[in-house]
Amino acid sequence: MSDAIDPLKPKYNRVLLKMSGEAFGHGGQSGISISETMGIAHQIKRVVDRGVQLAVVVGGGNILRGAQFSAKGEVIKETTAHYMGMLATIMNGLALQEVLESLGMQTRLQTALRVDSVSEFFIRRRAIRHLEKGRVVILSGGTGNPHVTTDTAAALRGIELEADIILKATRVDGVYSDDPEKNPHATRYDRLTYDRVFKEGLRVMDLSAIDLCADKKLPILVFNYKKEGNIEKAIAGHPIGTLVTA
Ligand code: UDP
Repeated sequence: MSDAIDPLKPKYNRVLLKMSGEAFGHGGQSGISISETMGIAHQIKRVVDRGVQLAVVVGGGNILRGAQFSAKGEVIKETTAHYMGMLATIMNGLALQEVLESLGMQTRLQTALRVDSVSEFFIRRRAIRHLEKGRVVILSGGTGNPHVTTDTAAALRGIELEADIILKATRVDGVYSDDPEKNPHATRYDRLTYDRVFKEGLRVMDLSAIDLCADKKLPILVFNYKKEGNIEKAIAGHPIGTLVTA
């Protein structure tokens, strides 16, 4: 038997990965890019091949965000716009499912809104069973309720599915003191407490999501998924991104 230490040995058994809708578009553009989705899928495959149980909550911002869309005019009610946003996340979920399956992976798409022709309705026990069988569980439709975002869905599902951690995939290397894309002097935090996130109003996830995670002591790692292999490194517990804990 080899004594070699595997630097990518998973530290977490069950992980909730939150992918924003913009991850599915090319360079922050709207719509769905197959090559961008393929990039995510390859990273997912690497961790699932190592035995990690992975649930993915997908956003819809590459297609439509309810608050922004309804702000454009008074014709479409905000609540309706949020339902449209939830439907957008289902499109991303379907794309991710097909791309993962093109790599030979087993998947299930569960949605918080009923779309029986294309997905299962979210049922916690069934989702857990899929995870135990090594299937990637893609969770679309957010929470199924308007006026919140998929960050809240990620926190809720992370708690329900008893995930060990929430990985919040972003285009930046973690949480900064200011917007690093605008302020070159912004500094990155390696670790934060939920309290500090609240007190300083740091942009980690929506406050309702942080509140849920803080209450249940569910750690959140904010990291840059654009760097190849970072999902694997995050799950191996490498010191990348910003870890938010109690
Ligand atoms: N949304 C909602 N309830 C939810 C989750 C999402 O109403 O539980 C709507 C909301 O309008 C949101 C849109 O769906 O703006 C897309 O989700 P989100 O903005 O979280 O996507 P992301 O920013 O992650 O791409």
